[in-house]
Amino acid sequence: MVVAPPGAAAQGPGAAGLGDPYFPLAGNGGYQVDHYEIALAFRPRSGRVRASVAISAVSTQALSAFNLDLRGLRVGSVTVDGAPAAFRRSGSELTVTPGVPIASGRPFQVVVAYGGRPHPVKSPDGFPTGWLPTRRGAFVASEPRGAITWFPCNDHPADKASFRFTVTVPRSRVAVANGALESVTRSRRARTYVWRAPEPVATYLATVAIDRYRLMRGSAGGIPSWTAVLHRKARHQRFVLRPTARVLARFGSYFGAYPFSTTGGISVDGFDGVALETQTRPIYGTGFKRIIVVHELAHQWFGDAVSVRSWQDIWLNEGFATWSEWLWRTGGSDRGLRRIFRRLYHAPRRFKRALWRVAPGDPTPKKMFGLSVYNRGALTLEALRQLIGDPVFYAILRRWVAEHLYGNASTAEFVALAEAESGRELDRFFAIWLYQQKKPRGWQ
Ligand SMILES: [Zn+2]
Repeated sequence: MVVAPPGAAAQGPGAAGLGDPYFPLAGNGGYQVDHYEIALAFRPRSGRVRASVAISAVSTQALSAFNLDLRGLRVGSVTVDGAPAAFRRSGSELTVTPGVPIASGRPFQVVVAYGGRPHPVKSPDGFPTGWLPTRRGAFVASEPRGAITWFPCNDHPADKASFRFTVTVPRSRVAVANGALESVTRSRRARTYVWRAPEPVATYLATVAIDRYRLMRGSAGGIPSWTAVLHRKARHQRFVLRPTARVLARFGSYFGAYPFSTTGGISVDGFDGVALETQTRPIYGTGFKRIIVVHELAHQWFGDAVSVRSWQDIWLNEGFATWSEWLWRTGGSDRGLRRIFRRLYHAPRRFKRALWRVAPGDPTPKKMFGLSVYNRGALTLEALRQLIGDPVFYAILRRWVAEHLYGNASTAEFVALAEAESGRELDRFFAIWLYQQKKPRGWQ
């Protein structure tokens, strides 16, 4: 038989989606992104952006064409490795055909110039996500599929990349993003903020927030911190965010050291009750409470450092963050944790459907941010702790973070790790807790 030399494989277009069971068209096949370099100028009065993104990627097959994900906005031009490329839009897919096909395993750079007024999209449970306008600015909260509203990307958590954001705003505004503030350039009328996030970020965890912020630089237990609070509420918001250092230290002692080089938080105008674990710098709607801060900081380990392999695994984010709230509340005491477990396990009838009829391991897109994913997900972890005991349980959590740091992991991998670390057969336990559409029996 004849073996073709590498690169001689037939060229074809990259797939339009990664085949996620919940969002088949999310992300794209044929390449992996290493870095997004986003330059964006925002005009608060018109709500419009003028932007470009330079995407450094590596092909995983020979590509005659490939897709990016983008919804709305107007694309002005696309280049691949500096040469103009043809492009076509259809729905949320931007198909790029380079002048010369890309060989397999080759690094390449795509630059897309685009602009217009970004509009949020609805999440499957009906909430607006992505680029969200506020009275004096805008902010980004993208879970699960909002990233496509503000930059062309490979929009799936399975393709994480580093980011740099260069954001230009009028001088009355401040722009915050993920990571570290590299520089601020001041001109007579404008300010340009450069933020750099060196550790891999899932596209839905990338953010920019623009408002009349007070930006505070500090340190949380030695980790450089940037916190953006609204002027009118600065005192209260600082108060609510104050325990950040303590939360990171406490969770660090249970889960392994805080995984990122910076921390902080961003308060947004309005959006009461809304929060998102945007990497290194969670977003908080006005009126946020301390326990929300605890929840979003727990996500820095569970969701951000270790991201879902597919959206169906969402309980690995929300169940873990909810259980971490319990850990914070009880200080890890066995009695305290069992008390919370009992209260929820014997929850009033009115919660029955939402909690027991929905399987947290396969909640469907519509229920992926529902009661079951958060609370039954957390109950699953707590039941596991009660079954195998603290030493093995915490060893599992630490190994989980260490082994998948900056990457992705699935429910099946968690089950396998729990079995390996505990030396027990746990298939049935997880089948009942995660996939059965009725209440697990025999617990107290
Ligand atoms: Zn959460």
